[in-house]
Amino acid sequence: MRVILFGPPGSGKGTQGDLIEKTYGFPRISTGDLLRQAVREQTPLGQKAAELMNQGRLVSDEIVEEIVRDRIKDPNCQRGYVLDGFPRTIQQAKSLERMDGKRREIVIEIEVDVDTVIRRLLSRKVCSSCGTVYNPVLHSSQEKGKCELCGGALIERADDQPEVIRQRMKVYQEQTEPVRDFYLKKSVYRKVDGSGRIQEVFDRIKLLLDAELAGIHEAKARE
Ligand code: AMP
Repeated sequence: MRVILFGPPGSGKGTQGDLIEKTYGFPRISTGDLLRQAVREQTPLGQKAAELMNQGRLVSDEIVEEIVRDRIKDPNCQRGYVLDGFPRTIQQAKSLERMDGKRREIVIEIEVDVDTVIRRLLSRKVCSSCGTVYNPVLHSSQEKGKCELCGGALIERADDQPEVIRQRMKVYQEQTEPVRDFYLKKSVYRKVDGSGRIQEVFDRIKLLLDAELAGIHEAKARE
């Protein structure tokens, strides 16, 4: 099973992906997190990606495809995995087909209006050390300025500045939204209302996933 979370920056893909991981045991793979880790560790890949990320532009398809190809080989992805932030272009979507095309999949778009996502992006903080995201509505520790998990300092993400956010939204509309049609044609596309409390959104996602998993079990029983 593969779950692809689809939606603009700030729509809640990371938060919902974590909940899917906790509930169903499918690891969340975030290309953004993996790239930020490479930037923090100053690997050659991180050095290549940093400038583009800070400008709100996409890193090259080849780089992210390699990251995903490598990550999904991990034995803990055998039962399934959740993709957060990938694919972001039609080329990436086609490449995923070549990498792991036989796997059953569901694409869930988290629909949120633009004003809400911009407000969320402008107010969130991340741990400078481990990358955990802090939302002021949910986490009181944001006020203390320290990560609850590792004690690292909480900072604004370099690409959560108004100018860069505008660019990321433009990139989303121009390069990522067309990916929706790709999955609509494959009949694996669903969408949920991404407004309201985190648990409410997750309940909507859970309904879709439970139905999908029940379908997989039935198909297996028939074999
Ligand atoms: P995210 O955390 O998903 O918002 O990603 C942060 C940044 O990482 C993006 O603005 C891109 O610069 C880069 N990035 C993440 N995923 C991808 C991807 N699938 N393709 C290209 N660039 C990506």
